[in-house]
Amino acid sequence: MEAAANYIAGEWVGASQGAEDINPSNTRDVVGVFARADIEDTKRAIAAAKQAFAQWSRSGIQQRHDLLKKIADEILARKDELGRLLAREEGKTLPEAVGEVARAGQIFLFFAGEAVRIAGEKIASVRPNIDIEITREPLGVVGVITPWNFPIAIPAWKIAPALAYGNCVVFKPADLVPATAHALAEIVVRAGLPPGVFNLVMGRGSVVGETLIKHPDVAAISFTGSVATGRQIAADCIAGMKKFQLEMGGKNPLVVVDDADMSVAVECAVNGAFFSTGQRCTASSRLIVTEGIHDRFVQAMTARMKTLVVDDALKAGTQIGPAVDRSQLDQDLSYIDVGRKEGAQLAAGGGTIERDTAGFYVQPTLFTNVRNDMRIAREEIFGPVAAVIRARDYDEALALANDTSFGLCAGICTTSLKHASHFKRNADAGMVMVNLPTAGVDYHVPFGGRKGSSYGPREQGRYAAEFYTTVKTAYTLA
Ligand code: NAD
Repeated sequence: MEAAANYIAGEWVGASQGAEDINPSNTRDVVGVFARADIEDTKRAIAAAKQAFAQWSRSGIQQRHDLLKKIADEILARKDELGRLLAREEGKTLPEAVGEVARAGQIFLFFAGEAVRIAGEKIASVRPNIDIEITREPLGVVGVITPWNFPIAIPAWKIAPALAYGNCVVFKPADLVPATAHALAEIVVRAGLPPGVFNLVMGRGSVVGETLIKHPDVAAISFTGSVATGRQIAADCIAGMKKFQLEMGGKNPLVVVDDADMSVAVECAVNGAFFSTGQRCTASSRLIVTEGIHDRFVQAMTARMKTLVVDDALKAGTQIGPAVDRSQLDQDLSYIDVGRKEGAQLAAGGGTIERDTAGFYVQPTLFTNVRNDMRIAREEIFGPVAAVIRARDYDEALALANDTSFGLCAGICTTSLKHASHFKRNADAGMVMVNLPTAGVDYHVPFGGRKGSSYGPREQGRYAAEFYTTVKTAYTLA
């Protein structure tokens, strides 16, 4: 099988090395073989982007709007087919995957609109006869480095604003999901961007990613991925004086208080903790439950978990697909072992599952009697494993919710306006959900967290301009 090529300087370019892309629901199914770029390929992509920037940054906003709209239209028209590819490659269920593709299309549509709404300010000077204008300008070459768990939505929410505001892009997708990245690149290229404005460079983080981060001609890095990689990127970007934004892990709390509607609480917890196989940075991995509802909640959760269908991501009726690969499955199982050894009680799940096809299937797993200082309550597992932590009352639940090194999303299930309002004000997180799962957000409003979860300006919505533009203040003698 010939390796699918990278897109560099306006051409599809093969590589001496290729890597197989394996379906995690059925490891005998090879989705494709994809080129692995080397350092030279990456440098050529950066050079092409740098060269293209001079013209692209001055391109008309109507042109940028039309190109982004064209990309959006094709993504939306092909959402079922692209969703199937995404589910086959990443392992989320077909409805989840089709939903993610539709979201990517909406994001391109949103930023097509933003391209013609780029605004500045005219402000009075404190000195006589002087005009002041504040304008937004693009940054230059932006390196886009993305994780495997949202193979099209995350690239979309970085590439679309980067292009809308006049930047050129070198896109490095995660190694595990090149097929979706390649399909997205084909659509972007077909829209007719000038050569060099957009480049796809598939390959290793230690090769392509590091070259991007350390290259002096890359003005900014937008990264989503793990905390460990994010910290490394931050250090390198500071050394090179680059602008950067990091979206990293989570250990998101869902607080369930005595007055919660039980069915709402259980659905929020099941969705937030287990859907997408728990492989979401916004997953509810800590369920903090107050005394008066604790035992009934655990009983209702374990009953509901018995009904969950874990199977091939492409099968009709599957609610939870496999782990993305062997190494993620091993990580899930190793944390389950850690939980047992720490003295938490296994209330449901805890092992792998056999299905018709050889895949990385793991049972949705619930631990009870978890203390917030246990590793399973502090470290991101990134699998369908949730920890129930008992709290005396709302105040203790809030304190436990905030006692974490992360701060991406925090949720509460309650029928009390008092608790809902207090929680919205006092949860130490970038996003707060009331009677909703911690995972599942809109595409037109800011996304991001606090503490160890995020660094730099927010992504998505109009707030994306903060990262993808830089502000200029011009003074004119009138
Ligand atoms: P990862 O950090 O292993 O990889 C992310 C990307 O960085 C990949 O493209 C990878 O190839 C690249 N990379 C790896 N080493 C690099 C290096 N030294 N230099 C430059 N690039 C390098 O993360 P992952 O396993 O792909 O994704 C899972 C993680 O992503 C989880 O921690 C999850 O919470 C996080 N995530 C966060 C958000 C968010 O918005 N906060 C969203 C989705 C996923």
